[in-house]
Amino acid sequence: MRYKGSCHCGRIAFEVEGTIESALSCNCSMCQRKGALLWFVPREQLRLTTPTEHMSTYRFNRHVISHHFCPNCGIHPFGEGTGPDGRAMAAINLRCLEDFDLASVPVQYFDGRSA
Ligand SMILES: [Zn+2]
Repeated sequence: MRYKGSCHCGRIAFEVEGTIESALSCNCSMCQRKGALLWFVPREQLRLTTPTEHMSTYRFNRHVISHHFCPNCGIHPFGEGTGPDGRAMAAINLRCLEDFDLASVPVQYFDGRSA
């Protein structure tokens, strides 16, 4: 499947390919506040359709994840990082996808606060 997603105002828009089997709810200090439900995909499955410089980026703690957000509307559509195997990954905020029914997949809870 190919999905389209964006921030609220549209300055950040993207397409992402893959099969969404579950959503990850993380309780770390960042995800808990954002309320994001995440879907991890290899970075190459994500394609930005707006310029990279439209995004602002926030990093904290060990600075291993780039939390991208829109400086205009404040929405966080996705983040980027590196998987345990060294592969570039993207964490898509499923709440930013068009035409995707969040109720159609189970939510898995991840204890990011302790990780
Ligand atoms: Zn925006």
